[in-house]
Amino acid sequence: MTTTNPPSVAIIGAGITGLTAAFRLHQRGYAVRVFEQAPHPGGSIRTIREAGYLIEGGPNSLMLGALEAKQLIKDLGLEPSMQVANRLAKKRFICRDGKFLPVPMGPGSFFSTRLFSFRTKAAIFGELLNRRKERTEDLSLADLVSEHFTPELVDYALNPLIAGIYAGDPAQLSVRHAFPMLWDAERSHGSLLRGMMAAGKARRARGEGRASLVSFPDGLQAITDTLAARLPAGALQCGTVVQAVVPGSPHRLTWEQYGQTATGEFDRVIFAVPAAALAQLTVGPGHERPLAELDEIIQPPVSSLFLGYRREQVGHPLDGFGGLVPAIEHRSVLGMLFSTTLFPNRAPAGHVSLTVFVGGLRQPELARLPTEALLAQIARDLHDLVGVSTPPLFVRHSYWPRAIPQYTLGYGRFLAVIDRLEKSAAGLYVGGNVRDGISLQDCIKSGEKLAARVTEK
Ligand SMILES: Cc1cc2nc3c(=O)[nH]c(=O)nc-3n(C[C@H](O)[C@H](O)[C@H](O)COP(=O)(O)OP(=O)(O)OC[C@H]3O[C@@H](n4cnc5c(N)ncnc54)[C@H](O)[C@@H]3O)c2cc1C
Repeated sequence: MTTTNPPSVAIIGAGITGLTAAFRLHQRGYAVRVFEQAPHPGGSIRTIREAGYLIEGGPNSLMLGALEAKQLIKDLGLEPSMQVANRLAKKRFICRDGKFLPVPMGPGSFFSTRLFSFRTKAAIFGELLNRRKERTEDLSLADLVSEHFTPELVDYALNPLIAGIYAGDPAQLSVRHAFPMLWDAERSHGSLLRGMMAAGKARRARGEGRASLVSFPDGLQAITDTLAARLPAGALQCGTVVQAVVPGSPHRLTWEQYGQTATGEFDRVIFAVPAAALAQLTVGPGHERPLAELDEIIQPPVSSLFLGYRREQVGHPLDGFGGLVPAIEHRSVLGMLFSTTLFPNRAPAGHVSLTVFVGGLRQPELARLPTEALLAQIARDLHDLVGVSTPPLFVRHSYWPRAIPQYTLGYGRFLAVIDRLEKSAAGLYVGGNVRDGISLQDCIKSGEKLAARVTEK
């Protein structure tokens, strides 16, 4: 590589994946150009300051454990300002019989909790004795957990957990693709619990330590804003929709900005856009859409409602991370975060905020409701779960028509489509949450991997 003529890389999508890849490639001397269809970078990360509140419209916290993610935060100079979630955030609630009950954190509360029956508690101990199993066929997460524990644990632990992470349904998610660590745990240890403990030990041996939940005084957008600010002037082109890629040497991109169509040539192309956007892109001389099948990936809608109250309007002590609601409880909300407990300075003095999630695979139609109807829909849940009987003083509604891709059974066929595209022409790379995991940390790792793959060619 010569410094006078560095290889050029087009990066489509300025979410955390694309920006991480662009930042690393720029550091390594590549000429990067990032195309983003929205007027601003960040993708799903969307922090808003309004009326004294700090609102996360998309993701609310970064679970920071992997070395790559920690290094990125360090390299961006964000480590000194990083906020680790309040110690109280270790306490989480799950709804049972219409009330939030704390998830047991130690042996005492485990034996006394009303969340699980004696049979489930005994099954948790019994599971430690499971023998190794050579499974060849993928199965759903719900089937795996039911087989190892009890259906009650699926209903009252797994189902709400998956609602919280994926806005999804464990009966549809693939163990192999959505939770590969459980697949490996069963194969290596038989017991999922012993396998996970061993994986934790291995992570600590690698120096990863315990993961912590973090954010920043300006919210998660501090990460993507800083990444964008570290790119050379003019490298990030917002308000630009990439429409077509014609692979070749070089690859030719066509994009539209402010109604004008333009083209450019690049040595490499990184695709860091969601599944639906990949499906729309034409890749080939004859406007082929080789990724069209990715449109079949299930990506249900979610509404996130940020609600501000005077402290005395909320009866619950809000002494935790928040609460999740199992489907079997037949409620309207998937769960909620106690946002002002999690991180400091998220609301004006004397006020608190909740971030409530609605919809997902469980009730997609509710996510699509307009704000007023949605507030009416969740009023009973807010009353029963956190003792709210008066309307919020502040509301910010963020609607995600296609929130999170569901790694369902058979997801391998979508990954094969992506593999085929990469094999069809040298210098095309696909990453992001369609392929490498849905969490922010997974996406940072995905961006790092994309940059490493471009660099090693
Ligand atoms: C409501 C919600 C809550 C979440 N909560 C959490 C959480 O608390 N913690 C966590 O770890 N994860 C959370 N996630 C998941 C996480 O936020 C995402 O998986 C992650 O941000 C995806 O990053 P990305 O860069 O891969 O994609 P995106 O953020 O989707 O970025 C892709 C970018 O590509 C752009 N684009 C699309 N098509 C084109 C085109 N043709 N041309 C140019 N640009 C294009 C888009 O505008 C977008 O900006 C949440 C997600 C949602 C939706």
